Amino acid sequence: MKALQFVSAGSYVVNDIPVPQIGADEVLLAARSVGICHSDIVLLEGRYILPFRFPVTPGHEWSAEVMEVGASVSSLRAGDRVVGECVVSEVDHFGFTMNGAMSEYFVAKAAWLHKIPDNLSWTQGALVEPFSCGYNATLKADNLDASDTAIVFGAGPIGLGVVAAAAAKGVRVLIAEPSEARAQLALELGAEGVLDPSSESFVEAALEATRGGASVVFEASGHPSAMAATLEVAAFKARLVNIGIDVGRSAPAKLGLIQAKQLQIRGIIGSPGVWPETIRFLSRTGLDLSKLVTKTVPVAEATSAYDAVINDKTQVKVHVTSDAH
Ligand SMILES: [Zn+2]
Repeated sequence: MKALQFVSAGSYVVNDIPVPQIGADEVLLAARSVGICHSDIVLLEGRYILPFRFPVTPGHEWSAEVMEVGASVSSLRAGDRVVGECVVSEVDHFGFTMNGAMSEYFVAKAAWLHKIPDNLSWTQGALVEPFSCGYNATLKADNLDASDTAIVFGAGPIGLGVVAAAAAKGVRVLIAEPSEARAQLALELGAEGVLDPSSESFVEAALEATRGGASVVFEASGHPSAMAATLEVAAFKARLVNIGIDVGRSAPAKLGLIQAKQLQIRGIIGSPGVWPETIRFLSRTGLDLSKLVTKTVPVAEATSAYDAVINDKTQVKVHVTSDAH
């Protein structure tokens, strides 16, 4: 079978390797759609947050069809359409410390998998993982509803998921994003207005657009300067949810605002425990995030998908597909 492998830091190839064998509690899956994430590129550079070894097949944002189940698996059968969680234990992340889904066939434990309903396409299925992070952020902004005005910092795949989830819940959403193309996607997913965080008058404009501050602020850009700005655009007693990742950089911030505005600030990691809700929410709302996918290539040409993610900053989400049987 064809599998994309990271063979050493910065180097990736599509190799022909044997179809893997399954154990009693495992499932053999045929990949259908697999998304590339910024964290795959971090892995490729050889500096993931957990120890791992090359060669490794990436791919933690995926949808697949069950081909075969192990002797002790009773929850699934051949033909089921599934997606799977990435954070499988404290020391193992699927598609990072163990081989992921960027191949024709791959193995996962049945316990990590969730069936998807027929009204989610394979492409939508592979967007469940990134969307679950944005959806989880909306769950962590206590009692988020249509009475709220939210500012979302960053229209990358996670921020766009926040926009879509919050807008579907009736929230008035403004996107803070310097790229016009990405801001446009946010508008298509339900944002009502755009703020340019790189402008001198950004805070003023944000306070005016929200009539004194946003009741909820989501930080999904990972920029310390944006994290600092969340305090300034927040309303009195606002809820702030931080999901954007940054390691080690800093920025000046008006920290006194935390006390003066009685802000409630929360940081979250990923989306553990919310996958069933995420899938029900997508299925029930009919929310279609496939417009986030700006390029799709077959697995045999998967290296070109990584080339695009690394070299072409206009790509939002690149998917690799397979129809092996
Ligand atoms: Zn990801």
